Amino acid sequence: MSKDKAMLNAFDPAAAGSLPAAERALIERRQRVLGTAYRLFYDNPLHIVRGEGVWLYDAGGERYLDAYNNVASVGHSHPRVVAAIAEQAAMLNTHTRYLHDGVVEYAERLVATFPSALSQAMFTCTGSEANDLALRIARSHTGASGVIVTELAYHGVTAAVAAVSPSLGKTVPLGVDVRAVSAPDTYRHDPATIGVWFAARVQEAIDDMLRHGIRPAALLVDTVFSSDGVYTDPAPFLAPAVEAIRAAGGLFIADEVQAGFARTGSCMWGFQRHGLVPDIVTMGKPMGNGHPIAGVVARPEIFERFGRDARYFNTFGGNPVSCAAALATLDVIQDEGLQANAARTGAYLRDKFREMARKHSWIGDVRGDGLFMGIELVKDQAAKTPATEETHRFVNLMREHRVLLSATGLRGNVIKLRPQLPFSLENADQLMQAADEVFAKL
Ligand code: PMP
Repeated sequence: MSKDKAMLNAFDPAAAGSLPAAERALIERRQRVLGTAYRLFYDNPLHIVRGEGVWLYDAGGERYLDAYNNVASVGHSHPRVVAAIAEQAAMLNTHTRYLHDGVVEYAERLVATFPSALSQAMFTCTGSEANDLALRIARSHTGASGVIVTELAYHGVTAAVAAVSPSLGKTVPLGVDVRAVSAPDTYRHDPATIGVWFAARVQEAIDDMLRHGIRPAALLVDTVFSSDGVYTDPAPFLAPAVEAIRAAGGLFIADEVQAGFARTGSCMWGFQRHGLVPDIVTMGKPMGNGHPIAGVVARPEIFERFGRDARYFNTFGGNPVSCAAALATLDVIQDEGLQANAARTGAYLRDKFREMARKHSWIGDVRGDGLFMGIELVKDQAAKTPATEETHRFVNLMREHRVLLSATGLRGNVIKLRPQLPFSLENADQLMQAADEVFAKL
């Protein structure tokens, strides 16, 4: 297993010796020019050159079933999105200081997918920037600074969001006004009381902040807790924690970078599963199906103070080409019925994994909604002993069986599955066939 504790399924460059000469050479060039901060996936890194729908193709022409891609979410190189980008790029690309229909039309279409109170949008290029902006807005609205996140949360790369991203590891410090609370682990705590349990953790963090003279500005959570290990049910378990932060004068920021855009099948947005209306929502990744566009949606009164005090201009955020990509992506989600497909294929996959748990006792828990899933692997189903090393092997063996997925969670023993939204029942069967063979090898 990689020595890199801060990222699961990371390639260990010290093991490059066993790779073919061409890959070794590219890895060496990469390290020479990109430095030490980048990580590759897999013990045997993949060299991908083409994507189409749910498939990726490597440099040798081998085909891989992509069950991990939450960026090209409506399918790799989707023709409608590609055409929209090409047409707009051939016509004009500027920024939001000129009048243009694109950003307005997209914003109107986007906010129409939210509860009516969340009626305004601001655009960025990455999820990190969206969370960075959301923190500035929350702090300006509340006049407070404290932020509560979960124990293994990831919210992005800027200085401000790295300071609220404990999953970056102990060598990346959290802010002095940041508190990390345990995730709502429904496998190890009673699901029936998990909402109250999680709210109690949030309340402890609020009390601790106040004791240190810090007023809470926000509770910021990924609504499917993806880096914490994928915790989706029983909804609405998130509601009591949101009540606690609001009672303390803070806002609820829903990070929908992972959960958003129909991925959870039952809803367009992850927070909707919990019957909540957040104060601020951030989004990114699948928004432009691979084209960099991200954003923040909120109630007008939340944006109001920030807009008065600080002008906002993001050179690339909301440019016409990005908005065309995002509009086409939204059209594809709606026209191809991808939310319903995510619900159907996701439920099918979870049923199949639950069935498989009777045959392969490595499977301890199967959770998720739509096409966002966590399969927790254990050495002993009764004792729930984490099978961390085996999870790493499972991920790498699946890659050798031409199926791409990864691992997540505090103990690195949760298989993280995020197939593309058009994943079919046939694709699900292909995945299960590979999983059956790989479990038998563990
Ligand atoms: N929030 C969450 C929940 C994420 O998973 C990510 C990216 N993995 C981000 C924010 C940051 O997005 P980006 O990489 O586009 O900056």
